[in-house]
Amino acid sequence: MDRYNGSSKNMSNLQNPPTLNSSSPLGFWDSTLGNLSRELSPQQFKTWIQPLSLLSYDESEQLLTIGAPNRFKLDWIKKTFSDRLQELASQYFSHPITLNFVLNVEGGALEVTKPSEPQERFGGVEPAVDQDATFTEEQSFEIEDHSKLNPNLTFDTFVTGKANQLARAASIQVAHNPGTSYNPMFLYGGVGLGKTHLIHAIGNHLLKEKPNARIRYIHAEQYVSDVVRAYQQKAFDRFKRYYHSLDLLLIDDIQFFSGKSRTQEEFFYAFEALLSNKAQVIITSDTYPKEMAGIDDRLISRFDSGLTVAIEPPELEMRVAILMKKALSEGIPMSEDVAFFVAKHLRSNVRELEGALRKILAFVRFHGKEVTIDVARTALKDLLSIQNRQISVENIQKAVADFYSIKVADMYSKKRPANIARPRQIAMFMAKELTQKSLPEIGELFGGRDHTTVLHAVRKIGEERSHDGQLNHEIHVIEQTLKS
Ligand code: ADP
Ligand code: MG
Repeated sequence: MDRYNGSSKNMSNLQNPPTLNSSSPLGFWDSTLGNLSRELSPQQFKTWIQPLSLLSYDESEQLLTIGAPNRFKLDWIKKTFSDRLQELASQYFSHPITLNFVLNVEGGALEVTKPSEPQERFGGVEPAVDQDATFTEEQSFEIEDHSKLNPNLTFDTFVTGKANQLARAASIQVAHNPGTSYNPMFLYGGVGLGKTHLIHAIGNHLLKEKPNARIRYIHAEQYVSDVVRAYQQKAFDRFKRYYHSLDLLLIDDIQFFSGKSRTQEEFFYAFEALLSNKAQVIITSDTYPKEMAGIDDRLISRFDSGLTVAIEPPELEMRVAILMKKALSEGIPMSEDVAFFVAKHLRSNVRELEGALRKILAFVRFHGKEVTIDVARTALKDLLSIQNRQISVENIQKAVADFYSIKVADMYSKKRPANIARPRQIAMFMAKELTQKSLPEIGELFGGRDHTTVLHAVRKIGEERSHDGQLNHEIHVIEQTLKS
């Protein structure tokens, strides 16, 4: 079986590029990609056509098999592009040919070189909803009238620390007084920091208090595809009725609405209807409203009209607490020193911590061992070797001095002007966060300072960082240079 990839770039890498003349499947694919790239918008082409792969050509049956990377794309291709592809095939081969569209399952019999963007969720554009799609009976539009809440994601299982205490307090407030105090509530922050967890917690809380409340959790990506389906199946009334009748709508990762204007319009109406019904709307995003790209201004101003609250990366103590709590709930207690060891090495988010914990627990269960630092180190060998490019206090001092344009020597000097003292405090803070050194050891490396001086710096900068976006950003940048 001949196997070809959908991207013409990869095709030209084939060792013996066949001549693109008479009736070669490769020639067909190449000319089809050319035609479609002219006929469609670049976005559409990239989203729908480029991820396709030509999987096989059965000459005796005159059958060409084309693979799509996921079910959604497969359905969409069949509905929207199969006629055109069929037409192009008949033109090219100048005899009837059957096109067969299949799911190109990884590892399956038809596996081919990966399409150029296999990870892409579903592209930067929503399907062009006005294309007349042909409907079949089994596609009747169903709305899942179910809250979709995960009962395990509650306030009880959510560990609090400085990084999330504001977000948690706001969430509790909203859970107690939905539709009144903060509407909408807009929660933003990086991946794996607990946004999804928190909004499920709100939903679960309300569900417990008011079992009849109409609650719905939905990921923005799912909402987009519901809009598309409602459109195709002319079921907008039902769609509207459902969404406009909720008491609580939790919509997750709204950055996925970017560039999808039809969805945004629909959401705008839902939003207005819900707010005027005094129903609560809760939105999460990876960034704050004004930073969002590809979102209509009127939506952005609506997003920002209630309460906007950030969730920050967890600080060391919180990471420790999360590890200990999760380990305990798995029935394998973890001591504080092991938790500190792990938390020091894994700094970015809670999801990463959970991954590390799973590894450790699997190791411990398999080998029947106790959780010790050595065991943790062994279990996390791979993770740590990437994470731990030995950041030293000296490197931190140098990076911080460079960043703030002061001399490295000022890190150990007794000088106190603010333009020197502050970077020095930042460096002490980072030394505590990023290395295994104790407070007295760090004091020693900063010109023999007392450990209380270090502690003061660590607390001060840590506290400022939690509400000073600029400082947070600077520390982040320095950290990146240290890791690169
Ligand atoms: P986000 O939606 O911000 O990407 P999630 O809510 O999916 O992050 O959190 C990632 C994982 O970490 C989830 O399993 C979640 O339960 C867990 N998690 C996040 N924050 C906390 C926390 N403060 N306490 C306990 N678990 C948390
Ligand atoms: Mg999430």
